[in-house]
Amino acid sequence: FGTAQRGHGGPRTFRGRDLQVNLPLTLEEIAEGVTKKIRVTRYVRCEVCGGTGAEPGTKPEKCPTCKGHGEVRQVTRSFLGQMVQVTTCPACHGRGEVIPRPCGACAGEGRVKDTVTVEIPVPAGVESGNYITLDGEGHAGPFNGPPGDLIVVFEEKRHKLFERHGVDILYNLTLSIPQAVLGAKLQVPTLNGKVEVDIPPGVQSGKVLRLRGKGIRHLDSSRRGDELVRIAVWIPDKLTPRERELFEELSRSEGIRPPEDDEGGFFHKMKSVLFGE
Ligand SMILES: [Zn+2]
Ligand SMILES: [Zn+2]
Repeated sequence: FGTAQRGHGGPRTFRGRDLQVNLPLTLEEIAEGVTKKIRVTRYVRCEVCGGTGAEPGTKPEKCPTCKGHGEVRQVTRSFLGQMVQVTTCPACHGRGEVIPRPCGACAGEGRVKDTVTVEIPVPAGVESGNYITLDGEGHAGPFNGPPGDLIVVFEEKRHKLFERHGVDILYNLTLSIPQAVLGAKLQVPTLNGKVEVDIPPGVQSGKVLRLRGKGIRHLDSSRRGDELVRIAVWIPDKLTPRERELFEELSRSEGIRPPEDDEGGFFHKMKSVLFGE
């Protein structure tokens, strides 16, 4: 059943239960916002009896026990005087009506289970655990009682390329040593297709390039986060004799050596870029 609701003194109606579902979303869907269609199995009004629970051609009748009030009074007398106790009518459970001939389709409950399609408007920028409530999209109440709500809990799927940091996304880009030293034009994936990125010459491992507006839309405005491209330089561990020769020649050159009295400045700089210190 559901939650009993009663106006003052009148018979009660039963509200349908709330229904909760999880909705998995890709980062692409979250970045733009999306309308998703989901299949939900829930109680709906029985069309055979129109929700009354009575066999077609018959009607619910006023409960003879409580005469339609939904509650019964018991009067007891004691030496303290007259005591009146009001309780829910046991014959009709407070509805004030009974069904002499129950509807065969819904066993007299006025509702049946059905699977329906519901459209879920997903705003951009949501996070796992955020939810929306769709009023009246939960289970129908018995005997034409008001429906419950549908609560949709969002769940972010893991992305194979990007790591989410609030409205920004992080992408790890691996460069060869010559690309890092000489600079390069590279195709970098974003949430909506690849873009060409200019890698400046002399880029260090750990350096973060910022692609403005390529992140996720804010939940409460039209502004967008950025895509952060974090550089890693790939060091080969197997060399051909010719490559070894070239590296050995390079190693004798002056400009190839890291500065000696840098006092950790290089690593400090990397940290500042990534964490915005
Ligand atoms: Zn029915
Ligand atoms: Zn009754």
